Amino acid sequence: MVKLRWRASRDSRRSLGWIPFKWNAIRYRNGQLFIGQMVLSLWDSYGLADYELGTGNISEDSRGRWYINISVKLSPQHGPHRSGAAKSVGIDLGLKDFASLSDGHVVGSGRHYRKLEGELAKAQRAKNKARVRALHTKIKNSRKDQLHKLSTALVEEYGAIFIGNVNASALAKTRMAKSVLDAGWSAFRTMLQYKCDYAGVWFDEVDEAYSTVICSCCKRRTGPKGLEGLRIREWACLECGAYHHRDINSADKILAAGRRRLAVDPMSRGRRRTDT
Ligand SMILES: [Zn+2]
Repeated sequence: MVKLRWRASRDSRRSLGWIPFKWNAIRYRNGQLFIGQMVLSLWDSYGLADYELGTGNISEDSRGRWYINISVKLSPQHGPHRSGAAKSVGIDLGLKDFASLSDGHVVGSGRHYRKLEGELAKAQRAKNKARVRALHTKIKNSRKDQLHKLSTALVEEYGAIFIGNVNASALAKTRMAKSVLDAGWSAFRTMLQYKCDYAGVWFDEVDEAYSTVICSCCKRRTGPKGLEGLRIREWACLECGAYHHRDINSADKILAAGRRRLAVDPMSRGRRRTDT
């Protein structure tokens, strides 16, 4: 029998409940989690039955809802090696769209997410504290969920992933936007890093300087420049005539820089360096 630690209290500054458990203390079957003597029903959006479960914890959020955080062992068949995929991708993180990929995909921040942000602003004006707290939690969770799905899909599809090292502080205008974006970007990089490590996928951060101003076709600096240029979404190269989506061009540049580094120094894997 495993003894569970428990803490919870009642007043307004009460600490949130948190119950850690070890891998050998849990079993999962058909949407039910068995922990010691407890049986918990849960909404399983990840298909936990497919994984070998590791250590984790059950934690409470500020609204009194309970979540389970659990580590899973990824078997090699979840990685790209099974298919022998050697495809690689470059990722450009952006202000308007969350990410643009060198394969042409653009990942927005989600209409659902933006709608929640609108509701949050309204609740803040109305000084409705409970609603503000609920919406904060909801936004945080839906963002985290989106980042998990995106990073997992990328790791399953590609054998090498390169991401730009830009940070939001340099780009975003308001302090609020900076912190929100920075948190999302760094959480996403962290997820990618550990998922790549698990699956044996190559991961590297590359210097993004000039990635938006250099044409990915002819390598000349013909792209939109500076903060003013951020508003320009698409442009045609004056030198070679290539037509670019600004952020996908940037992702192409990141991919090219990543591949160059891979060719020069194949031992650099796993290290995070920002020079090129
Ligand atoms: Zn060009």
